[in-house]
Amino acid sequence: MQQKVKFKQLLSYIFILLCWVGCVKSVPYCAITGKTMGTTYSIKCQSIINPQILKFKVDSLLAEINQSVSAYIPSSTISQVNKATTNEISNIILEDVFIDNFNLSKQLYTKTSGAFNPALAPLISYWGFGYKNLTQKNVDTNLVQQLITRCNFDDFELHNKRILKKQNEQHLDFNAVAKGYGVDKVAELLHIEGITNFMVEIGGEIRASGKNAAQQPWTIAIDKPEKNLNNRSFNAILKLDNQSVATSGNYRNYRKIGDKQYGHIINPFTGFPQQTNIISASIIAKNCAEADAYATACMVLGFQKAKALVAQNNNLKAYFIYKDENGAVLTFSSKGLLIHELNLRKN
Ligand code: ADP
Ligand code: MG
Repeated sequence: MQQKVKFKQLLSYIFILLCWVGCVKSVPYCAITGKTMGTTYSIKCQSIINPQILKFKVDSLLAEINQSVSAYIPSSTISQVNKATTNEISNIILEDVFIDNFNLSKQLYTKTSGAFNPALAPLISYWGFGYKNLTQKNVDTNLVQQLITRCNFDDFELHNKRILKKQNEQHLDFNAVAKGYGVDKVAELLHIEGITNFMVEIGGEIRASGKNAAQQPWTIAIDKPEKNLNNRSFNAILKLDNQSVATSGNYRNYRKIGDKQYGHIINPFTGFPQQTNIISASIIAKNCAEADAYATACMVLGFQKAKALVAQNNNLKAYFIYKDENGAVLTFSSKGLLIHELNLRKN
């Protein structure tokens, strides 16, 4: 008799489980797209929430982040911090988004020994990658040396929702971390909404959670380095297991001064755009903000040092496309990376 009851109980559990699996499977996946941070974003997620309502929430969140850390918005907090003199700056009360970006940047600045440096804004503007257009026709090496002295991140200090800087002409630029931070915040929002299967992307920086519509791990394609977006093709397919990936490269964002081409990643130690042997650096980490900043730092460090930096951090993996000393294009991928390469030669 008791055994019969147990059997019935088991059957009802199986029934409930099957219903639940059925429901989960039948919840549709939707796609949401929009514009933010001077680029586009896209989200794919499994949710019963009306996509328009979800988009409204995402857009509001991203607008709040931009209003804090986008130097392209004149009224943003970062623009105010950049414009303020050393006397005026303490009047600005910082919101959590700014404080998060600052603290995260401080950690990553330390972890990358200064290769990632959000105080590089004066040099970034000089080389034409800021919010002002490039004006100079020649490179003024003396001026570059002077500008380096204004790019010391240690000159910025946080005190109780206020920031201080040592010199008036010191500016911050969170561009190399803000997209990743935005991705992490959108992921947090989706989790709060009860969504567990999603992929969020802002300007190529990505975070994945759970499974895709085919109930498989999310996959992303890593671009083959091409200047022209129309010639886009792929170098590798990467599976993401509840991870983020950010890619940094100099091949699409560059300026010409005279007859020389300069990329948008600046070496904080020389003050010049970094001519690196890494063509593209993809960093895989739990948090997208971290992946974003490390990818930029790897471009500054070059292949050997970047490989060593990744090896020191258990929570990081990398996929590099780089040139060896003979000019051959090779790839490197960390052990354990779920990657399928489509052509280039592997190291
Ligand atoms: P992308 O915007 O192409 O994804 P990144 O995430 O690597 O590239 O960010 C590059 C941007 O970060 C530059 O355009 C510049 O504003 C800023 N930047 C450049 N060099 C550095 C650096 N060494 N540390 C921090 N930020 C940097
Ligand atoms: Mg970056």
